[in-house]
Amino acid sequence: MAKKNPQTALMHSDYTAPAGFDAFPVAIHHASTVLFKNVAAMRAREWQEKNSYTYGLHGTPTSFTLEARLAEIEGGQHCLLAPSGLAAITMVDLALLKSGDDVLLPDNVYNPNRELGNWLSKDFGITARYYDPMAGAGIAGLIQPNTRLVWTEAPGSVSMEVPDLPAICAAAHAKGVLVAIDNTWSAGLALRAFDLGVDIVMQALTKYQSGGSDVLMGAVVTRDPALNQKLQLAHMRLGFGVGMDDAYLVLRSLPTMKLRFDAHDAGARTVAAWLQQQAQISRVLHPAFADCPGHENWKRDFTGAGGLFSVLFDARYSEEQTDCFVDSLKLFKIGYSWGGANSLCVPYRIQGMRKNWQDQGTLVRFNIGLEDPQDLIADIEQAFNLM
Ligand SMILES: *Cc1c(COP(=O)(O)O)cnc(C)c1O
Repeated sequence: MAKKNPQTALMHSDYTAPAGFDAFPVAIHHASTVLFKNVAAMRAREWQEKNSYTYGLHGTPTSFTLEARLAEIEGGQHCLLAPSGLAAITMVDLALLKSGDDVLLPDNVYNPNRELGNWLSKDFGITARYYDPMAGAGIAGLIQPNTRLVWTEAPGSVSMEVPDLPAICAAAHAKGVLVAIDNTWSAGLALRAFDLGVDIVMQALTKYQSGGSDVLMGAVVTRDPALNQKLQLAHMRLGFGVGMDDAYLVLRSLPTMKLRFDAHDAGARTVAAWLQQQAQISRVLHPAFADCPGHENWKRDFTGAGGLFSVLFDARYSEEQTDCFVDSLKLFKIGYSWGGANSLCVPYRIQGMRKNWQDQGTLVRFNIGLEDPQDLIADIEQAFNLM
């Protein structure tokens, strides 16, 4: 089918409904066992193929439809689903790394990805090293003969630095190293990662794709068939099935994803612009704002921003005071994750998470939901007054 506008692509796929039952929703197909007409038909089926079915763990028409839609959103060719975003990260590492190999991760990486890297280093004979997320072309100096993979995250989902992806990709490819991106922040809507040179796109569908704060799922998208085959093998060996009811929930949310994403984006920019004017806040770490490291990269490479950003409180406030601020919020709830309708707020002990963090003051991350931004601002204002 011809290339569609992203909003249209979110709503139209090549899914065919059963004869005589045309309707918009994709059917939920549950199965462990898939039946074959005879032994010859069983032997002829290949589990890797997406145009036939072998066993529920490898997918049903419901999950294949979701995979096809996600690949299209990212501008990729192949997609594999995993039971969580973190499982999708694990699948990439285990597909591409073996004992003796080296992987580079940005120092601002999603913390469980760092945990995985440390575990691979400690128990699996793989080295995981951490680089300055703003390294750009300088990453070339860190690549060793045994380096196989460079992870990127754009931006880092707590401290919000936006990396120079084309420079990182060029440096890695010059030495035959693959680049993976955790593209969750942009939902695949605001960043065309493959067009910048990235080889593997990972998404936590738990966030905007679900949109309901009720599903855990991940995806890995690629363009290259050989790379997809390696990932498929890891996917099969790890037994990463997803529930078809969950796959359906994500399919149900996709048509509204861009509208929700744009609303989160507009709300977040309104709240962030207000926060920037407040004496309690020393810095707003939002990629669309000039104070954010890598803002120029965001301007060049992104078409939007979504609802997630962080602030640094002025260093004169103790952690006790900023905790009191978070506890005093009424519309913002305290909790991890984002991409759902409700606004969330989490303070991070960033100084302990990073090797070379320079800034003073508590870092607080906001997920701007779909409430009216002026109500959210009023909520923050009343909590400031109780600090
Ligand atoms: C949430 C998240 C993940 C992991 O997703 P889960 O489904 O919670 O495992 C990975 N990366 C980023 C940036 C995330 O925000």
